[in-house]
Amino acid sequence: MYENLIQVERLVEETKRKLGVFQYIEVEFRKFRSRGGDASVIPSPKVRFSSILWPLATDEQRRQIVVHEVCHIKVMLEDLVRGFRTEGPHGPSWAAAMRSCGEKPDTRHNIQRPQVETFGVFTCGCDGRTHSLTKHRWGKVMKGCIYNCRVCKKNLVPSEETAKKLGWRKCL
Ligand SMILES: [Zn+2]
Ligand SMILES: [Zn+2]
Repeated sequence: MYENLIQVERLVEETKRKLGVFQYIEVEFRKFRSRGGDASVIPSPKVRFSSILWPLATDEQRRQIVVHEVCHIKVMLEDLVRGFRTEGPHGPSWAAAMRSCGEKPDTRHNIQRPQVETFGVFTCGCDGRTHSLTKHRWGKVMKGCIYNCRVCKKNLVPSEETAKKLGWRKCL
């Protein structure tokens, strides 16, 4: 991961210069599966990136992810000085910061996630939410185990593609 850390730190410094952020920002890799990264300013500015998704991302996506999180830091530091939040995490201030770095204010990184997705996609009662199961859980599903969505509590139902793999028929 050493080379990746060097690349992240270079991108963080470049973004800080563009945004006029002078505070030190700590960088860390974590085993996030479902997000490219996150940001926090309490107790001190820190950005974390997914050690699983980073190697799968293109250089362009890596830049987007870093700029995305450092833009959060800029807005969060301003909120901290002001003492309150004025908008949501991907609001106008964050979007303006993204644009000033030459990035589109998209909130999805669209990195291919082969390790997760090859084991089947499930849906629940949430609008647009999909669930990918780990190899371990997939094995249990094949034995008849049913999982629930943590948000809506409904049973996870295999997507059409996954149902085919499982050999289940859709009965209406
Ligand atoms: Zn974000
Ligand atoms: Zn749900």
